[in-house]
Amino acid sequence: MDLYKKLLLVLLLLLKTSMVWAEPRVVIDQDQVNLSDFRMGYHVDQSQALTYEEVSGLPFKETGSKTSLGTNARVTWFKLILDNASSLEQQLFVHLPHAYHVRSVDFYQERDGVLVHSEPLDMDRTAESDLMYRGTAVYPLTLPADQSTTLYLRSHSYSHQWFAVEVLDEQASRRALISINTDIALMVGMMLALVFYNGLLYFATSKKENIFYSLYLISGLVWIALSYGLIASVFDVYGTEIFKLNISLITMPIFLLLFMMAIFETKAFYPTEHRFLQALILLLSGTLVWGIFDISAALKPASSLAALMMVVTFSVSISLYRKGHPLVKYFLIGHSFFVVFNGIAVLVYKGLIPPSYLSSHGVGIGIVLEALTLAFIISHRIKILEDIRSSQDELKKQAATDPLTKLYNRRFFFSEADYLLELAKNSRTPLSILMVDIDHFKSVNDSYGHACGDQVIIELAHTLKKQSRAKDVVARFGGEEFVVLLPDADLQEASRCAERIRAAVQTLEVTINVNDIVRSTVSIGVAEISVGHESVEAALNRADKALYDAKKSGRNRVLIEGPELGELEVV
Ligand code: GH3
Ligand code: MG
Ligand code: MG
Repeated sequence: MDLYKKLLLVLLLLLKTSMVWAEPRVVIDQDQVNLSDFRMGYHVDQSQALTYEEVSGLPFKETGSKTSLGTNARVTWFKLILDNASSLEQQLFVHLPHAYHVRSVDFYQERDGVLVHSEPLDMDRTAESDLMYRGTAVYPLTLPADQSTTLYLRSHSYSHQWFAVEVLDEQASRRALISINTDIALMVGMMLALVFYNGLLYFATSKKENIFYSLYLISGLVWIALSYGLIASVFDVYGTEIFKLNISLITMPIFLLLFMMAIFETKAFYPTEHRFLQALILLLSGTLVWGIFDISAALKPASSLAALMMVVTFSVSISLYRKGHPLVKYFLIGHSFFVVFNGIAVLVYKGLIPPSYLSSHGVGIGIVLEALTLAFIISHRIKILEDIRSSQDELKKQAATDPLTKLYNRRFFFSEADYLLELAKNSRTPLSILMVDIDHFKSVNDSYGHACGDQVIIELAHTLKKQSRAKDVVARFGGEEFVVLLPDADLQEASRCAERIRAAVQTLEVTINVNDIVRSTVSIGVAEISVGHESVEAALNRADKALYDAKKSGRNRVLIEGPELGELEVV
């Protein structure tokens, strides 16, 4: 048994050593070449100073043709052995589709252990090189039948080492170079539309959250366009100056925090949470200033700050949610999307999980999903404000009207009357008043009950509205007493209106308990306000006096009271 075990161990060891020793090779055995998924070697140069001669003698580890080696692999050598197993000479193009976001890539080509060609590609000086095309580095080589060649690629990144290699024939190369990043362009386009919309909202409403949201979106879309190669492929620009746009990775969380403060009104209502957000903004602003001078260095603490930010924003949101803020639950949902997708992306950048479409686009997807949720929060808030306003309007209306007749009440009448008197003064137009009281109303109540009395009051209110003009103010002054204010009507016009009302009420029949019919009459006192010389109250007193006299002289009649005329009976 022991012997078997030992043998097995030796076998396993042999297998393992042979795996380390066998270097991965890219075998070309077809006429059409379109290889984007193969194995290759890599060696991280911590010293950043190794030369080709030194590196070519060192052992390489194995990795995939799309790889992410994290932030501690700034300078990494990749080794690619190409075997032409076909019977034809191959014209090949080695593509590096992520070349746009490194500092430089140097190419060294070996044949039979001898360096046959080397070429540097510095992203700050791409004009001097033919190798860079719209974000992709393209290294051409000819490989005769049954021959092999070894490529050493020295990739010097700004931050994380995110590298991909493709080996293509001429047709596949051309096709790869003309395809544009439609998906990224779509993301960026969508965010741009939101930027414009919120910019307009800001100009319309002057609400700070709209401007913070727009700035957050701009930071997000700049970062997406930069990191996923849209800026490189559209504008054909790379290098240190363009890398500085990574500052957007610091401005984005700053504007998100400012947005949170504005939309949740933390300063006014949640001072503790507000202080936490302020502290975080302070830290980020420090990093921002640092980033302006040295973005590569500032990006390191920026990613730790991003982690801290997630903790703070989540804690603050949960705290606001507990305190019953109506909008914060949507923010939590959007922010969760952001955190989950960012978490996946961070794992890829750190080289902890292999890159896939979803994982390598994690930050972009997270930003877009969060941006959409924030847009929803903004529109939801507009709805909440609208609801508050309409309930305020409703309250105002309730405060101005009488619940039984829906006519204006005494209070509203006076504020409206003062306003109309001012208008009349300015425009030198007349203003008149009618005071209306139901005759013998007590007996209606006594004979048919209070509820029927109410019914009569409601019907009378309808008649008053019907017989007056749209601009007249009809108010219920007290129990069964009403006042009509008639702008632009002199005594004559007002008494004609009063007479119309009196006659209409006389013919009014209010049906009660199916077959009981109640008929009523009204007495009306009329007065024209002496505009500029008299108050509304004084004119009301005169109208009241005319009404009193109308009652005294037999009811169901209209009496007018002019400042000079004295009383005059219309009917
Ligand atoms: P007059 O012709 O002199 O006006 O006689 P009147 O019976 O109408 O006398 P007065 O105006 O003094 O009485 C008003 C009565 O109206 C007293 C009260 O019972 C009744 N009333 C006041 N408000 C309401 C109300 O809201 N509903 C009902 N049903 N009755 C009311
Ligand atoms: Mg009465
Ligand atoms: Mg009365």
